Formats: sequence, structure tokens, C-alpha cells
Amino acid sequence: MTATPTAIPTTRADWQALAQALTARLETRAFIDDTFVDAVSGETLATINPATGETLAHVASCDAADADLAVAAARAAYARGDWSRLSPARRKQTLLRLAALMEAHQHELALLDTLDMGKPVSSALGDIDGAIGCLRYTAEGIDKVYGEVAPTGDDSLGLVLREPLGVVASIVPWNFPLMMTAWKIAPALAAGNSVILKPSEKSPLSALRLTQLAREAGLPRGVFQVLPGFGHTVGRALALSMEVDCLAFTGSTGVGKQLMQYAGQSNLKRVYLECGGKSPNLVFADCKNLDQVAWNAAAAIFHNQGEVCIAGSRLLVDNAIRGVFVDKVVEAAKAMQPGDPLDPESFMGAMVDETQYRRVLDYIAKGREEGARLRVGGVAIDGPGYFIPPTVFDGVTPAMTIGREEIFGPVLSVFGFDSEEEAVAMANDSDYGLAAGLWSQDIDRIMRVSRKLHSGQVFVNNWAGPDMTVPFGGVKQSGNGRDKSLHALEEYTELKTVWMALAP
Ligand code: NAD
Repeated sequence: MTATPTAIPTTRADWQALAQALTARLETRAFIDDTFVDAVSGETLATINPATGETLAHVASCDAADADLAVAAARAAYARGDWSRLSPARRKQTLLRLAALMEAHQHELALLDTLDMGKPVSSALGDIDGAIGCLRYTAEGIDKVYGEVAPTGDDSLGLVLREPLGVVASIVPWNFPLMMTAWKIAPALAAGNSVILKPSEKSPLSALRLTQLAREAGLPRGVFQVLPGFGHTVGRALALSMEVDCLAFTGSTGVGKQLMQYAGQSNLKRVYLECGGKSPNLVFADCKNLDQVAWNAAAAIFHNQGEVCIAGSRLLVDNAIRGVFVDKVVEAAKAMQPGDPLDPESFMGAMVDETQYRRVLDYIAKGREEGARLRVGGVAIDGPGYFIPPTVFDGVTPAMTIGREEIFGPVLSVFGFDSEEEAVAMANDSDYGLAAGLWSQDIDRIMRVSRKLHSGQVFVNNWAGPDMTVPFGGVKQSGNGRDKSLHALEEYTELKTVWMALAP
């Protein structure tokens, strides 16, 4: 599949035409040891366009047999050393070539994610830009990270070296298919590991296209492989493998817990988890420009149809401004209706599949049953496709299901508070700790509350603003890993001590 559009798509009709061209020649096979292959079992899985309900393709459904082949090829590549022992400067060049190829094919990559999981194509383009930025940032970093010389006496020399781990299995979700992939594979590859990627069964197409670009960029055989398939088959096999050294996972907390068990049952491989969230967004009465804050609070949950790990799904508002503020959030929500993902003007698209659509609707029903006040939305949009409008519940309490559980859809729960202490206690009353936001003009309060929030990241007077220079990850049951920034490289390298005795 080498669709190279002659013109940059800008209108819905352009995107539709490109979609037609692309779906006629999709790569659907696994990529193992530099070869595109069907699953050993011959099984396939259907990937559906959730905006239309139509089947896009039947993709290889890998299982343990395919995992064994990929792991053997990854180990062989690692031992061969044409990537693992290549100088960081040379690895950088290859990864920069890959980033350039991704840029040249950005419309096609964005469209594959849109067709596969229903997000608006304009947001998908932003994701691809983020993925390319991640590749570039990490590649540029790898030849600037030094080891250490220990502070010894003259009779010895202590070196602390950073070495690649060996074989890394990256298991990723469907909500930002290629961006989550880039966050995992860029540092793992830059550090010299062999990487096996398992994309979500709901969104494998962009990862398969990426393999073709990686090959063109010059990644040696066995260094980057992709196994599409289900979690309980090929994902589990990778996690239980004795020859995989690290699992880098983004997905739900439930599966993250299973992966830790698999590591314990096998070879104690490293397990880095980026899991779920129920992120609080605190709005204090002293914040500036309520209209803008309300728009941001709505976008923090409705962007990507609410299918975002760091979605600001709990909005905590000072009761002094709650009435007027929630009215503004409701108005903003009304302006964020879902539309055709191929329309560049659409703010929201379709839910990823029928299962997720039903799950979100069940939560909405539970919100009503448990006594939360529905302010807007709440009723699914008639098909075809799985569309749910922005939904706002006010008067939510910490005891309600929609106030505690991750919904992963366009449902906002609004809570009221009377004091800063109450707001912080409510924000921290969660199993999760992925992100938190706070809106205020009082610098003392900003610093005080930022420190007290039990969260991997705190956004002050913005939501999800950070770029590649800072780490991304959570505490508590949101996980233990950190993507992005140079700190991500630490996860994919082992510290080795070399101690030399020196003659006087
Ligand atoms: P999921 O946990 O169902 O699946 C994630 C991946 O794990 C998929 O590739 C899946 O096939 C695989 N998997 C499932 N069961 C497995 C098993 N037994 N063994 C090995 N692999 C298995 O999550 P999802 O529905 O794809 O994504 C939504 C979740 O991801 C949400 O909870 C969201 O918060 C989380 N997420 C977190 C971050 C973050 O950075 N913290 C980012 C995006 C999404």
C-alpha cells in the first residue's frame, strides 16, 4: 500500500476520496522478521469503521505461535548487534528518516486512525504531528545522554553505563493509536532495543502502515515487528514470554494488573504501565475569564469523544460560581457536537465500537438512576455509527458510580465545593492519579494545591498543554511508567557498573 495523494486533503470530499483510495489497498498482515505474513493459524479479525459500522478489513489475528516467531527474530536481531550496538548517532539518523517518512505520509496515517477508531480527522492529524515530534525529540536526544564516571580514588575507575534491555514488547490501546505507539517505540528503539508492537485489535491499521515506513527508513530486520491480534491471545503470549525483557503498556488498569501477574509468572520482566484515570479539574472562584475556562473544561472532557486517559472527567467547581459556570460549560458542550469524522470541522467523532458505545450509555443511565442532574446530552444519536453527544451531569457526589469510575466517553461529572481543603480532598479521593487541573490567579494557592494533588501531572490554567519536554504518567492505579521527555529513555535501558582496579 503506497498511497501518495497528489494534493493535500482539506475538504470532506478530499478526505472521502483519499479514504476510498486507501481502503482499497490496506496492509492487513503481521510484520515478522522483515516479512509481511498471515497469522500462523490463518485467523483474521475484522476491523470496523465505527462512524459507519462497515468492515474496513480483515487483519491477521496473531496468537502465541506468531509471538514465538517474532520474539525469536527480535532476539536474533539484538544478538546480531546491527541496531543494538550501532552508535547512537547512527540510530538517530534512521529514526529521523522514519520521522521524515511519517511526515510525508501524515494524511494517510491520520486517515487510517480516523477510519479505524472514529476520531475526527483534524484531531488525528494533530496526533500524527505529536507522533512525529516524539520520534524527532527522542532521536535527537539519544546521542546526548551520557553515562557516569563514579567519584572513586586514584586506584580505581567506576563507570556507570546505560545499555539497552534486549526485547521490548509494547502493548498499546486504540484511543490515540499512532501517538501512543510513538511514545513507546521511539525511546525503546532509540536506546537500541528490538521492539515488538501489539496494537489494539480495534485500531491496527496505522501500525501496519508504519512497518512499511520503518523498513524504508532502514531499520534492520527483526528490530521493529508488529503483531495485530487480541490481548488475551498474542498480548498474553508476549507478556508471559521468557524472552521478552520489558513490557511497555498503555491501557486499562485491569489489564495492567494482569500484566504484572504475567511478569511474575514468567521471567520478572520489567513492566511499565500507563493506565486509566478519573482526572479532577478544579475551578476556583478567583480564576480569570470564566468563558474561556468553561470552554477549556468542556474541551478537557469532550476532546477525542472523551476517550482520553487524562480526560478532565471530574469538574470540581467552587459553589460561589458554580451556577453561572456550569451554564457556560453546558453552552460550550452544545457547541462540541459529534459529526462525520471525515469532516475537518467536526470536533467529536464516533465512539470506537458498539461495546464502548453501550458501556458509555450504561454509565449515563446509572448517573440518572443515582440522582445526578442531567444538564445536557445523555441520548445517543441515531445511527449508522456509534455517536454520543457531550453529556453533563451536575450535582454529582463522590459516592456515585459516574463520580468514581472511568467512563472513557463524553460524560462530565460536576461536583461543588465550599473550600480549598474540601476541593483537594475530593480531588484526591480516587483510585487514580493520572492528571489534575487547577484554575486560579492566586499564585500561593496554585503552588499549595499543586503540591497537595496526588497526581502524576498538574495542569495550571490549561488542560493537557505540556509538550515533549516533560514526562507523562500517573501515580496510584494510573500506573508506574513515564512516557515522553528524556526520562522515558531510562525505562528502556539497564544500568551497568564497570569497576576497574588501576595500578598506582
Ligand atoms: P485495554 O486495557 O482493554 O487494552 C489495551 C491493550 O492491551 C490492547 O492492545 C489489548 O489488546 C491489550 N490486552 C488486553 N488484554 C490483554 C491481556 N490479557 N494480555 C496482554 N494484553 C492485553 O485498554 P483499551 O480499551 O485499549 O484502552 C482504554 C484504556 O487505556 C483506558 O483505561 C485509558 O485510560 C487507558 N489509557 C491510558 C493512557 C495513559 O497514558 N495512561 C493513554 C491512553 C489510554
